[in-house]
Amino acid sequence: MKPVLVVGAGQLGLMMAAAGARFGIPVDRMDHVTGELVPGTSNLRLTMPLDEIEQRYDIITAELEHLGDTPLLNSVKATKSWQNAAAFEILPTREKQKRMLDELQVATAPWQFLNNQDDLLNAHAELGDKLVVKSIRDGYDGKGQWRPVAGQSHDIPAEAFGGLIAEAMVDFSREVSLVGARFANGEYYFFPLTENYHHEGILRYSLGPAPKTEDLQADAQTMLSKIMEHLDYVGVMAMECFQTEQGLIVNELAPRVHNSGHWTQAGSDYSQFDLHLSALTGAAVPHQPKRFPVTVMLNLIGCEWNAEWQALPGIQCYWYGKERRDKRKLGHINLSASSVEELVAHCEGLMPYLDEEHKGFLAEAVALLNAS
Ligand code: ATP
Ligand code: MG
Repeated sequence: MKPVLVVGAGQLGLMMAAAGARFGIPVDRMDHVTGELVPGTSNLRLTMPLDEIEQRYDIITAELEHLGDTPLLNSVKATKSWQNAAAFEILPTREKQKRMLDELQVATAPWQFLNNQDDLLNAHAELGDKLVVKSIRDGYDGKGQWRPVAGQSHDIPAEAFGGLIAEAMVDFSREVSLVGARFANGEYYFFPLTENYHHEGILRYSLGPAPKTEDLQADAQTMLSKIMEHLDYVGVMAMECFQTEQGLIVNELAPRVHNSGHWTQAGSDYSQFDLHLSALTGAAVPHQPKRFPVTVMLNLIGCEWNAEWQALPGIQCYWYGKERRDKRKLGHINLSASSVEELVAHCEGLMPYLDEEHKGFLAEAVALLNAS
């Protein structure tokens, strides 16, 4: 099997390495800041010259799109093993991503580039009183975002102008995402849509498959396949959307496995990590993997590890081994069952082992399950 290198030494590459073990695909990781090689799921750190890296790894992919413009990463991107160069050129810059969506006529919130304060006034006039202003680079978990309101003072730093876009505030009923892959032969595989809930810009929980998406799945697949084909993309891509009265509107795209696809680890016997590796290594497109009716994914944000979690019924727990920090993604729990009633019971069983904040989010997920 072709060895794969994942740029980025975080949890997504870690879970990819774990998935690779099942298929006999050696997956190692590379710290994108230091350039150190992290073999498999270990925390060893080694150094390896770039020409050796290029020789050893037929496929170099990434677990994050904000790679920066360092000499190291530019050299990695210049290797023959680097995958999906076009997507990593366009998607990490919001302005380029939005322009591409407009060109492809894939619905997205109307937007404008902000060079200065006057542009912000103009954006209010054109796009509405309430705007979402976003840095064009390096945003994640709601960082680098502001919500100015016309006629009120705002907290956007003056030096940020020139690297910002303003988007119209979208009036959505819910957020959903589509995770899917394009294979080198041009075939596609899509998971069912996921329903996602954010708080303070951070994904807190997802339901996969999302309930009541009969009318949306085909549209979402058409949109994402158009994008992946345009970029001649191979591997998993995630498309975050707003559901509106006019249909789906794309919020943003990620050229990688995605937090909103974590439910597939327990909710399907073929996960988004399996899918990414299969597409990259030229394996066959899966045929109808087994799936639970619904899975809840609860992100573990800024909390302490609890050894009881993994022993509870219906629970699959992932802990990333990262240093604890407030609002940091430290792990996630997938809860699945063969019926909604049983799943609700699993959620209730977990409640006593969660802090108040996580309990609140899980209670919201239970309310959605009960209403589904
Ligand atoms: P991620 O962690 O997914 O990379 P991010 O920091 O890149 O997040 P976005 O996904 O663009 O940021 O925005 C975070 C959240 O803010 C969205 O999931 C959505 O809830 C809200 N949001 C973003 N853009 C808009 C918009 N134009 N209108 C309304 N809400 C928005
Ligand atoms: Mg997002």
